[in-house]
Amino acid sequence: MIQRHPRGPTAIEDQHHDFDLVAAITAKRPAWMKSALCASNPDVNFFPDRGESLTPALTICGLCEVLIPCREWALSAPANDHGILGGMSANARQHARKNATKRKANAS
Ligand code: SF4
Repeated sequence: MIQRHPRGPTAIEDQHHDFDLVAAITAKRPAWMKSALCASNPDVNFFPDRGESLTPALTICGLCEVLIPCREWALSAPANDHGILGGMSANARQHARKNATKRKANAS
């Protein structure tokens, strides 16, 4: 709920507005995201730069109970093609999509 500051538009009101926007976006997320293990491991880098190890993030994904729905979501949403998602790097997801497209083409 947005609480109006008595002095009108202020930074405080903007903060409340931003908070409500975040809550609204979060409410539209798939239910499985509430069990995302990455959310409770903020010290692990899920967006490693080139040359940085992927292992810490991939290890967390491997222990995550929502790995399968997360991977399906990540593979179905190319816009999310960065960082580690669903136990896969962005490159691995791109390869998986290309292979799936080839399999569909060969099957038809
Ligand atoms: S599989 Fe990995 S990226 Fe997906 S929710 Fe779990 S920890 Fe996060």
